[in-house]
Amino acid sequence: MEDCLFCKIADGRIPGKIVYDKNGVVAFEDIHPAAPHHILFIPRRHIASMAELTPQDGELLSKLFTAAAEVARERGLDDPEHGYRFVTNVGPHAGQSVFHLHFHLLGGRSFSWPPG
Ligand code: AMP
Ligand code: ZN
Repeated sequence: MEDCLFCKIADGRIPGKIVYDKNGVVAFEDIHPAAPHHILFIPRRHIASMAELTPQDGELLSKLFTAAAEVARERGLDDPEHGYRFVTNVGPHAGQSVFHLHFHLLGGRSFSWPPG
């Protein structure tokens, strides 16, 4: 999509610290990290949010989740004593600010539950 920030990062039209780019999934460092590890995972194809997903997107979702698990493992976030969080926000109440589907991989500290 012409005017979408995350489409532009995925295409290299604006810079991003890309850490993963495979099988239609791109991941890059969040510009305002909320944890020692904060990486955003997006589909290369523009989808506004998880509210637009259909059952046909099952394979894409699997790729997003396994990509995040792979990066988490590489960074040592998956050891049984620590772990990480993988979340997506939909709409203003949840705090979605960029309307291209993205999942936050957060790790390197502990997180409270439920979120504020
Ligand atoms: P959300 O609020 O769930 O829509 O998440 C959007 C995320 O995108 C926030 O955590 C922002 O810090 C992050 N963000 C905004 N602009 C950029 C950018 N140019 N590069 C990387 N991350 C960004
Ligand atoms: Zn987009």
